[in-house]
Amino acid sequence: ASEKEAALAAVPPGAPTIFDKIINKEIPANVVYEDEKVLAFRDIAPQAPTHILIIPKVKDGLTGLSKAEERNIEILGHLLYSAKLVAKQEGLEDGFRVVINDGPQGCQSVYHIHVHLLGGCQMNWPPG
Ligand code: ADP
Repeated sequence: ASEKEAALAAVPPGAPTIFDKIINKEIPANVVYEDEKVLAFRDIAPQAPTHILIIPKVKDGLTGLSKAEERNIEILGHLLYSAKLVAKQEGLEDGFRVVINDGPQGCQSVYHIHVHLLGGCQMNWPPG
């Protein structure tokens, strides 16, 4: 299936996702950074030399950015700041890209909010 088809066929928002299994250590992940609130691990299908996902350990309704409420502001900032820390840890001194896909048109396929950190090569714009 194309990326768009996969996004359209994604599980309904709110259902447990594969990321819950990663958080609960039911399936393995290549974890590169962790604190009390977030987990960062390498994407299983990397789209750049460095491709890391940063997720909240507690979803708290955040299936995607479009579902964000005021109570989520702190974790949203925490996710973004963690992306900066991981970029530094990964040596992405020449720059990087941070992406949050939302909903079918955004090609979101996992409904547990996550920040993509991409780097290690020259990016292009627009992403399409
Ligand atoms: P898309 O699949 O279009 O990138 P998302 O923004 O929802 O949509 O990203 C989900 C990401 O999760 C994908 O990049 C996918 O490769 C990654 N992924 C799915 N399952 C795993 C897994 N078990 N371990 C690591 N990454 C995973």
